[in-house]
Amino acid sequence: MRPKKRMKEIILLKDGELALKGLNRSTFEDILIKNLRGRLSSLGEFSFFKSQSTIVAEPLTEDIDLDEAVRRIGKVFGIVGISRAAVCEKDIAAVTDMAWRYLAEELQNAKSFKVTAKRADKAFPLTSPEICDEVGGAILSHFPRLKVDVHDPAVTVSVEVRDKGVYIHGAQKPGAGGMPTGTGGRACLLISGGIDSPVAGYMLAKRGVKLTAVHFASPPYTSQLAEMKVHSLLGKVSEYAGRVNLFTVHFTAIQEAIRDYCPEEMFTVTMRRLMMRIASRIAEWQGCSALITGESLGQVASQTMQALRCTDAAATLPVFRPCIGMDKNEIVVISRLIDAFDISIQPYEDCCTVFTPRHPRTRPTLAYAEEIEALLPDEDAMIDEAVKTAKLLVIEAYGDNAE
Ligand code: ATP
Ligand code: MG
Repeated sequence: MRPKKRMKEIILLKDGELALKGLNRSTFEDILIKNLRGRLSSLGEFSFFKSQSTIVAEPLTEDIDLDEAVRRIGKVFGIVGISRAAVCEKDIAAVTDMAWRYLAEELQNAKSFKVTAKRADKAFPLTSPEICDEVGGAILSHFPRLKVDVHDPAVTVSVEVRDKGVYIHGAQKPGAGGMPTGTGGRACLLISGGIDSPVAGYMLAKRGVKLTAVHFASPPYTSQLAEMKVHSLLGKVSEYAGRVNLFTVHFTAIQEAIRDYCPEEMFTVTMRRLMMRIASRIAEWQGCSALITGESLGQVASQTMQALRCTDAAATLPVFRPCIGMDKNEIVVISRLIDAFDISIQPYEDCCTVFTPRHPRTRPTLAYAEEIEALLPDEDAMIDEAVKTAKLLVIEAYGDNAE
């Protein structure tokens, strides 16, 4: 066993929409803590406990990189606020001393501050206003140029007297928001190497959805590098969404059949219907309740309402398209936020850009799309083969993620 160090710092986490969940609250919190545990497990041992409306993450060994822990927690859905805090014994002299030392850097550079105190442990001999007076006095004596400003302070020093000790912290950082991943079921993301689909995956994961992913590759028209690009993109999504099982489908024979048997103007819509059929099969097999795509209305010929209707009709599950009403630049903002953009713009062929029609039909009827698809010989056998030969790769941003 590793030596247990006398703990000095912990991380305080505020959960968000969980407050709305009434009786389900503790189940939601349990899932959130499981996700946190998985996300931090490769950094070292933590213990997690709930304390009033806060989850406390306590490192159990000295060598844990807390900066990295805070960065990772910043991508865990279900958390709205993160504070790294010093832990102090329940003695007011120790508290005042710790407060000015622990936050010296922030206080040094600030013009104003205030102290807030919460006394959950009513046995503590000072009241909250008395704690504020003591701590505020000590800070003023060490930083005499600082002013107290209770309305709009540059630094808020928080002192929380809890059962296990006194926690002292400065500003709370915003968390990733959303709902804990796994509380909203499972869905299957169709991921290309583009900008939109990783964003779509992130958006649904943010609503608590666990992701499975499907990527269609058409070697030799698409390269190994294009597949690796998808792995990197999913790695970025998995920093938020946790572990993602990626199925790579060998799509070449199907695309060649479409090229050989279907009119050029219907290549894309037919291809997208086949993608939906295959993804639906994998999704149902993997226990998913929906598909997710990165389509945005009107962005390209296959993303008109009529074309989307043709695509939807081939899916056996509901299709979620979180980017549908977004402009490209709005999608790019999220793509940059999740650090995917620079990967997405690497120029590798996607199977969508293989055999691209010069004049795609933008308003196909469903009857026509079905008629065209019926031209494909052995369609069912090709789909069976594609599903059967799909390759599984587990994507986990942080290695031994236990989620
Ligand atoms: P993206 O930026 O996500 O590639 P896009 O605007 O380029 O989107 P299309 O290429 O028409 O749009 O693809 C629309 C959607 O179809 C994608 O968002 C993605 O969900 C899915 N898709 C496209 N190509 C593939 C692929 N090779 N494998 C899996 N899904 C794909
Ligand atoms: Mg694309």
